[in-house]
Amino acid sequence: MSERLLYLVKPGELTLKGGNRESFMRILKRNLVTMLRSGAPGSQLRSTAGRLYVSCAEERAARVEELLSRLMGIAGWALARTCEKTPEAVLAACAEEGKRLKQSGAGSFKVEARRTDKSFPLDSYGIRCAAGDAVRAAVPGFPVDVQNPGEVISVEIREKAYVYSLGKKGRRGLPAGSAGRGLLLLSGGIDSPVAGCMMAGRGMGLDAVYFHTPPYTSGEALDKTVRLAEIAGSYAMGMRLYIVNFTGVQRRIKEKSPPEWNTVLLRMAMMEAAFFIARRTGAKCLVTGESLSQVASQTVENLNCGESPVRNHKNPVPVLRPLIGIDKEEIILRAKNFGTYETSILPFADCCVLFSPVHPVLRGDPREAGSLYEALELGDPGSGTGLLHEALAGAEVKKCGYYERTGNSEGY
Ligand code: ATP
Ligand code: MG
Repeated sequence: MSERLLYLVKPGELTLKGGNRESFMRILKRNLVTMLRSGAPGSQLRSTAGRLYVSCAEERAARVEELLSRLMGIAGWALARTCEKTPEAVLAACAEEGKRLKQSGAGSFKVEARRTDKSFPLDSYGIRCAAGDAVRAAVPGFPVDVQNPGEVISVEIREKAYVYSLGKKGRRGLPAGSAGRGLLLLSGGIDSPVAGCMMAGRGMGLDAVYFHTPPYTSGEALDKTVRLAEIAGSYAMGMRLYIVNFTGVQRRIKEKSPPEWNTVLLRMAMMEAAFFIARRTGAKCLVTGESLSQVASQTVENLNCGESPVRNHKNPVPVLRPLIGIDKEEIILRAKNFGTYETSILPFADCCVLFSPVHPVLRGDPREAGSLYEALELGDPGSGTGLLHEALAGAEVKKCGYYERTGNSEGY
């Protein structure tokens, strides 16, 4: 039988949340269990004293780490050795860990120790000294450096003894699904997938909507957006993607309005359609990838016009724009970090690009925008007629990024 490995997982910001801590912890555990059941069946999750422990078969290690790298709400994790709670066993485990670190290229080390079980014969200081000596004796040429260590070997004496190092950083934030639901306006671009991942990292559950314009936009553009929804969805513990055909709406805008207004009017129609989907799904906000002044449609005046149809409804929802103050270079770094970038830059144009006017309105007047929008007569989806209703009634829904249970689920 292959060896079982143990990962120590440290929850993030939720340790600070006082009375809410228990409920955040419950959601975090539920998310991790869901991930493991799907991606690493046979793994086990245990929690004590604010720590999570995942044990898995050795051959599942890469998959478990991949899942942990998508889990919102953890500060980090480390692969731990468990051993008997005796000084001899702990020092031997430290020596083994020291050998491994030296072999993997570390230049120096220090030992950190915590003892919650006070019956252990050495106190934390005693463990640090003895373990330091044990490592130096076992690994020649591997010096202690307390100020600036290459690696830190940690010892924890709890219900068992744990020795670990080489911790990996988690995504921090809050567990997805702990902060209500939002509806992401997802295009095939760089920005909106990042906006979605960021909101998932603040605990928001997400659904998404994509407006496409066949035959002006290709099947490849749709496939690309579905792939982006799969990635963003994997951080949000799954999301439903509403695919809405906006060809009729786009044509109407082109026929009835001055070309320089096309982009603003299109954004207004998208926002209103998204608002109706949000109403149906119970989403409490819309989320976009807009960033101030990045393009003509994103001046503060045009942002105001864009969201005005939502405000004009009863019980409007807020439009959240997590990227509003973030520049493109930083957004690209985040896109690379979330793993959406490579897909976003595939060269399939979305509908906005094709219908973009050469000289768009830069500072749209909300009253003028309102009357041009009225003149489009897109109808009220609530009434069951009109172009918006048709577009929404024909929406296709795809489940993206869910962790479905697979194989044997032994251990749960
Ligand atoms: P992105 O990179 O997210 O496409 P962008 O910089 O290209 O953003 P715009 O095309 O002006 O900017 O879009 C602004 C925002 O409007 C997007 O971030 C997204 O939230 C929403 N959006 C744009 N096009 C679509 C679409 N076809 N379907 C759904 N939402 C869209
Ligand atoms: Mg775009």
